Amino acid sequence: MSTKPMKPLHKPKKTVDLSKADTIKCDDCGNYLFINSYAIKRISAILSPTGQEGIVPVQVYSCGNCGKVPSMFLEGTGLGTDG
Ligand SMILES: [Zn+2]
Repeated sequence: MSTKPMKPLHKPKKTVDLSKADTIKCDDCGNYLFINSYAIKRISAILSPTGQEGIVPVQVYSCGNCGKVPSMFLEGTGLGTDG
């Protein structure tokens, strides 16, 4: 095993202009402030790779106004209602 020479880390500093980036808004009320939430999935023993029941938190963001979670955050959780 040879030790690789350290690559000089010169990342060109890209400044992201957030004013030009899309803001995700609540589908329901148009609010754009979201709070951290977790959907908790319970893995049954049948589905679990370990053969034991388990609990898996899935982080989502919910609207700070009406509480709705945009469907894009629910993809893969099986919680989307209007699929
Ligand atoms: Zn909302």
